[in-house]
Amino acid sequence: MAAAGKLPVRKGLEGAEGAILTCTQCGYCKESCPFFNELGWDTNTARGRVLLSYALLHGLVPADEKTVEAIYGCTLCRKCENDCSSKLRILDILEAVRRDLAASGKLLPPHAEVLRRMEEGGNIFADRTPTTEMHGERERPAPVAYFAGCVSSFSARRPAQATRRLLGRMGVDFTMFDELCCGYPAHLLGAGFEKVARGNIERLRRLGVKTLVLSCDGCFRMFKEVYPESLKDGLEVRHLAEVIDQNIDRLPEPKVKETVTLHDSCDLGRHMGMYDLPRRVLSRFANIEEMPAAKERALCCGSGGGARIAFGGTSDAIALRRLDMAERVSPLLVTTCPACAHSMEVVARKGKKRVRVCTLAQYIEETIRRNEAG
Ligand code: SF4
Ligand code: SF4
Repeated sequence: MAAAGKLPVRKGLEGAEGAILTCTQCGYCKESCPFFNELGWDTNTARGRVLLSYALLHGLVPADEKTVEAIYGCTLCRKCENDCSSKLRILDILEAVRRDLAASGKLLPPHAEVLRRMEEGGNIFADRTPTTEMHGERERPAPVAYFAGCVSSFSARRPAQATRRLLGRMGVDFTMFDELCCGYPAHLLGAGFEKVARGNIERLRRLGVKTLVLSCDGCFRMFKEVYPESLKDGLEVRHLAEVIDQNIDRLPEPKVKETVTLHDSCDLGRHMGMYDLPRRVLSRFANIEEMPAAKERALCCGSGGGARIAFGGTSDAIALRRLDMAERVSPLLVTTCPACAHSMEVVARKGKKRVRVCTLAQYIEETIRRNEAG
């Protein structure tokens, strides 16, 4: 191959070269990949992206639109890493190549636009309305704060409304605050998130918050795993499901339980290994019928890693595949993550699927209210 000119920034790829060279090109990861299953090209597999990363590191391919699309046409769902025959840390490679592309100014226009909105407006929608106003709440000093996240603040607020009601029922004394985006979209695209992270932590500190509760799996992972400990300074980060689990006796069990199916989000599932918690919580309110692909083997909803922003058609097709599977098991699909729920809900509506999608918080809160109404 002829030299194509090296990427200006290759720091991430240089660090990942050892992992890249461990790939045996066996192809076991092919059918793991939701993008490959829709598009069918080898560049749409982890193997293809690992090979492209090597080629980018050594200037063997140009960082042109096709290459950048191949790298970012990935939901970062981690299914490939789960299935890799060589136990390769594929996500380290995929994140490294994204960091170098972003630092070299090689982003796809829709991704660059999202970063611009975050920079200018503090969230992915560039909406300057205070998030407290969106939820009809106000900031006040409190030991616990609830962080709803951008999707549940500006796009689909019902999951946040259900969460606030549930926290109230459990007697949690919480405040909301004027949130900035948690920074996860920027982190996934390989860009910096420090400005919004510092802004969020400063706001929490001003209110004396010691515990932060999150109902979005991506925001939870961001605060829990990605924000550096030095920044969090002892802040306790808890998923709503953990809070419900701890206070489960405060929420009445329904007399009759419906059968539902559960979608594991990639963030809470493969990334954080939390499979039992949502099942334990949900099983108090419903009977769970598992889909053929559940837990580590769960199919991605298609929206992560910036995929929905730049590859809407493929993202929809991936969601449809998950909905097809859910529909064969139950007319009710519950997931912990409002972002997964929102994108699958939109696709279910468009595709006229006979399955209702809702979040764990919505399902529990509605079930309790329905039972109280008799
Ligand atoms: S399964 Fe692992 S080793 Fe095999 S091609 Fe995929 S990334 Fe490479
Ligand atoms: S993280 Fe998911 S979408 Fe990306 S290469 Fe791996 S399997 Fe494919």
